[in-house]
Amino acid sequence: MGNAALRSRYDAVMMPTYAPSIPLVRGEGCRVWDDDGKVYLDLIAGIAVSALGHNHPAIVEAVSAQVSRIAHSSNLFFNEPAVALAERIVGLLGGDARVFFTNSGTEANEAAFKLVRRHAGADRPYVVAAERGFHGRTMGALALTGKASIREPFGPFSANVVFVPYGDVDALKNAVNEGAAAVFLEPALGEGGVIPAPTGYLKAARELCDATGAMLVLDEIQSGFGRTGEWFMHQAEGVKPDVITLAKGLGGGLPIGACVGLGEYGSTFARSDHGSTFGGNPVACAAALAVIDTIESQNLLANVATVGGRLRDGLADVGHPALAGVRGRGLWLALELSGVTSAAVERASRDNGFLVNAVQPDAIRIAPPLILGTAEADRFVAALPEILDLSLQASRES
Ligand SMILES: *Cc1c(COP(=O)(O)O)cnc(C)c1O
Repeated sequence: MGNAALRSRYDAVMMPTYAPSIPLVRGEGCRVWDDDGKVYLDLIAGIAVSALGHNHPAIVEAVSAQVSRIAHSSNLFFNEPAVALAERIVGLLGGDARVFFTNSGTEANEAAFKLVRRHAGADRPYVVAAERGFHGRTMGALALTGKASIREPFGPFSANVVFVPYGDVDALKNAVNEGAAAVFLEPALGEGGVIPAPTGYLKAARELCDATGAMLVLDEIQSGFGRTGEWFMHQAEGVKPDVITLAKGLGGGLPIGACVGLGEYGSTFARSDHGSTFGGNPVACAAALAVIDTIESQNLLANVATVGGRLRDGLADVGHPALAGVRGRGLWLALELSGVTSAAVERASRDNGFLVNAVQPDAIRIAPPLILGTAEADRFVAALPEILDLSLQASRES
């Protein structure tokens, strides 16, 4: 059909909420093809989702087998893949936790928000969240999202949220007191531009929550499941949250999310407190089990650390006037740009056969499949000077 023809069909019937660049037709490993037949190295993985890349045999096998057995159970009944997946997640978090499955990240945060309200009661009227934080687009998660331009057009919200500058311990101290029901944080700002919390920040949040009785909710929707070289980013900080939310990489491309209550918070929700028709869908759970099994059997956490480290070092050594720095951890990096827009760099990358993401006006996000190889990482490093040259030219011409 071709990219352009499909684009006009898209524009005619889809709400104009997105500005997608190209249609993707198929993928294999870390490569994807558009409808014109052009091939790209996928360095964004559908926003940190396709953890095992594309067409991975473990996922194809698990999903095909499950869909031919039974594709849906609803929560009037239950299914083994959901139980097995919950067991694995609880195990990865060190035991003593319970899981509620959702179909997306924002729904995981909605569940967490309701859980917080259920636990806290009326004398803790507000929650604390971070400026520049992102927690999703539905009304509860959006109320927690610290980017005013996407939040404010949709107010008023029923939730009372106090925003603090991300990474600032003193601001957190001022905001968290006996009236706070919870603190919602990402271990690193994802949509905010791949900005890890300063060392000690999560620990300080944990201590403030312990001192005041507020709950600590960590949103690991983007940072979790190996993205940073740990199963979960908070594990590197030695901090234990009360609730953790998951999605994105968990399903390896199938839609699934989870809200996990640790310790006593696994039992906060009672019968009928929450629900989802599709949550715990056996096909999505089978895919997630394949993701976890493959991360383990293929030693992908080690791959994330080595290839991520090599990519980061290689990018940092590029030495180009448009590249001010590189930040992030594991296979979750951002290029800090100077004198060039991220939109121009995203486009020049695409023209050169690389998919990356203009996550902020001055930052490019790189979040490839966790199976990325050293040769693939090196290929992008080698191409970057020319991509930046072209971006500078394009920025000057526009
Ligand atoms: C993507 C994301 C969400 C929202 O997930 P959806 O599946 O798009 O609803 C929430 N929190 C964080 C940190 C995310 O990166």
